Amino acid sequence: MKSRWSDAEAAGLDPLALRVYTSRLIGAEPSLVLPGGGNTSVKLDGHDHRGRQCRTLAIKGSGSDLRTVDARGFATLVLDDLLALRERPEMPDEAMVEYLTRSLTDSRAPRPSIETLLHAFLPPAWVDHSHADAILALTNQPESTPVLRRAFGDAVAIVPYLQPGFALARAVLAAYRARPSVIGIVLDKHGLVTFGDSARASYERHVELVTIAEAALPAPVAEGDRIDAAIEARAAQLGPVLRGLVSRPVRAIVRFDGSARVRRFVDRPDVGVIAQQGPATPDHVLRTKRLPLVLSSQRPEAIAPQIAAYVAAYRAYVRARQPAGAREHDPHPRVVLAPQLGMFTMGKSAAEADLVAEIYRHTMDVIEAASAIGAYAALSADHLYNMEYWPLELYKLTLVPPERALARRVALVTGAGSGIGRAIALRLAAEGALVFATDLDGQRATATCAAIVAAGGEGASLGMDVADERGVTDAFEAVARSAGGVDIVVSNAGIADSAPLHQTPLAMWERNLRINATGHFLVCGAAVRQLRRQGLGGSIVLVGTKNVFDPGTDFGAYSAAKAAELQLARVLAIENGAEGIRVNVVNPDAVFGDSGLWTDELRRRRAAAHGLPASDLEDFYVQRTLLKARVTAADVAEAVLFFASDRSAKTTGAVLPVDGGVRGAFPR
Ligand code: ZN
Repeated sequence: MKSRWSDAEAAGLDPLALRVYTSRLIGAEPSLVLPGGGNTSVKLDGHDHRGRQCRTLAIKGSGSDLRTVDARGFATLVLDDLLALRERPEMPDEAMVEYLTRSLTDSRAPRPSIETLLHAFLPPAWVDHSHADAILALTNQPESTPVLRRAFGDAVAIVPYLQPGFALARAVLAAYRARPSVIGIVLDKHGLVTFGDSARASYERHVELVTIAEAALPAPVAEGDRIDAAIEARAAQLGPVLRGLVSRPVRAIVRFDGSARVRRFVDRPDVGVIAQQGPATPDHVLRTKRLPLVLSSQRPEAIAPQIAAYVAAYRAYVRARQPAGAREHDPHPRVVLAPQLGMFTMGKSAAEADLVAEIYRHTMDVIEAASAIGAYAALSADHLYNMEYWPLELYKLTLVPPERALARRVALVTGAGSGIGRAIALRLAAEGALVFATDLDGQRATATCAAIVAAGGEGASLGMDVADERGVTDAFEAVARSAGGVDIVVSNAGIADSAPLHQTPLAMWERNLRINATGHFLVCGAAVRQLRRQGLGGSIVLVGTKNVFDPGTDFGAYSAAKAAELQLARVLAIENGAEGIRVNVVNPDAVFGDSGLWTDELRRRRAAAHGLPASDLEDFYVQRTLLKARVTAADVAEAVLFFASDRSAKTTGAVLPVDGGVRGAFPR
C-alpha cells in the first residue's frame, strides 16, 4: 500500500482540517475501511461548553464515513473528563455512553464513537483505527499471535479480542504502557490502531504496517467484472425465488453479483467450509449476519428447504444465547452464495444490499488471503452474538425513522420518460419504492431516474419497447438481477392516433393495437410470471383511458385497443386473485402537461373532432367535467399509488377514473 500523503495538500491546514485530510486518505483505501467503518481522532487545545480552555479529543462521530467525513463529522469531548476514567477497573456500556455524551463540548455534535475511550487513553495526539483486510487476514487465524509476530516482530503490540468498549480501551492502554516504543497495536480479529505525534506519522505508520501485512500474504488477483449471458439468465430465474422466500414477513431487495471476482470464491470446492466460519471483523455481523447461506442445490424446489434450514439454525444460535422474551432479528440470510453462479445479497434498500455485497467481497478477500497462509478462523459464535445483539446496536435501530409506505417494494413503470409515467415513477419513489423507470426512449428514462435520485429516492432506468417481446423479457430479467423481482408493475406506455375509422390506415390500426393492447399483454404477462415465481402477491396497475367507457369520434383505433387493455386487466384479475396478485385500472382523461401522448397533431385532430380551435381544447375538456377540473399527471399518480400500495389490499379488477367526472365514463 502506498502512502497518499501530499505535502502540498496538507500545507496550511489547521489540526482539525489535517485530521479530516488524513481520515479521508484512509477512507480512500477500500481495503482499509468499508463505508462507515474505522475511526480517527486528534487531541487539541480547545474549550469546554463554558468557554474555558482545555485539552479536547476530536473523534469521528457515528453516521459519517471516512471517505467523505468533514469537520462537522467529528465530535469534540473534554479530554480530562475522559482521562479521569483511565484507572477505573470497569464501566458498563450504557454508563460509558452516558458519560461520553456529558463530556461533549457541543451537545449538537454527532454521537461519539464507541471506541472513543480507546483513542482518548492513548497518549499520542493522533490515532487512526481501521479494519484493514490484510491485517484481518493475519489476525483471523486459529493461532494468530505467531503469525503476527512473524510479520511484525516487535513493532506492534497485540491485544486479544474484546468487544469494543471500556475493557478494550483499558487493554489497549495497558499494551501501550507495557511497550511505548510500538508503532501500532493489532486488535485480534478486529483491526489495527496506529498513533503518532503528527497526522502524517500516525497515517504513515498505518500504511507501513498494512504494507508489511500485505507482503506476508499472496498478491491479490485483479479480475474484471465481466458476466456471461447464461449466468445472467439463471440468476434472473433464481433471484425471484430467493426474494420470495426471504421476504416473509419483511421484504428485501435482492442484488445479484456474478462477477469473476465473486465466482472465484463461490466456485471453490471448499466454499461450504471457508464461508461458514464467520465475518472478518465483528461489526460486519450487523450487515451480513454471522454466516452466509451456501446453496448446495440450485433447483427451484430445493431452495425453500435450504432457506428453512438456515432460518432454523439462526434461531437455534440466537435462542441458545438470548434471554427469554427478547426479540430476534429477521432470521433470513443476508448473503447467499451460489456455486457456479454468484452471490445474492439482501437489504432493506438497494443501497443496503449493495453495502452487504461490498462488505462480503472484502470478506472473500480476507478469507482467501487467510486460507492461503494457514486457515481462516473467525470469532466464536458467542462473541458474534454479543455484537449482533449488543444493546447499543439495538438502541441504534430505535433511532431509524419509520419506513415509508412502499419501502422495500420494487416498482417497474413503463412509459416513465414523460407525462403520466414520469409522475407515477416519481410518486412511487417518493413513497420509498425502488423504481425501474422504463421507456422506449432510454435517455428520457434515464432523466426520470436522475430526478428520482435527486429527490433522495432509489431508481434505475431501462430502455424498453413494450411491443417487443424479447425486450420486455430482458427488462424483467434485469430487474430480477438487480432487485430480486418486482412488487408493483405499472403498465402505462401508450400512444394515441386520431382518424375516422373508415379513413384509418391498416398500419395505424395495427400500431394502436400493438402498443395499446399487445404492449400491455407482454408487460403484464412477464410481470405475472415473475410475481408468481416470487410468490409474494403483487399489484399490477394499468393506465387506461376515459375512452374505454366513453369513446370519442375519430378515436376508433385508440379506443378499440384500449378497450382490449381493460378486458385484459379484468381477466388478469380473475386468473391471479388466488396468487394475491391484484390488477386494477386507472382511467385518466385529458392530461396534457408534458405528456408524450398529446402530440401537436393529436391536439389538432381532437380539436377538429370537437369542432374547436386547438387553443380551446384544454379548456373544453375542463368544462365538460362534473368538477370543472383540469386533470394533471400528478392526479393520476395519486390514484396509481393507491392501487400500488396496501391501502387497496382488498381491491382487484377495479377501475378508478381520474377525469374530473365524466358522466359517460362512469365505470361499468
Ligand atoms: Zn473497530
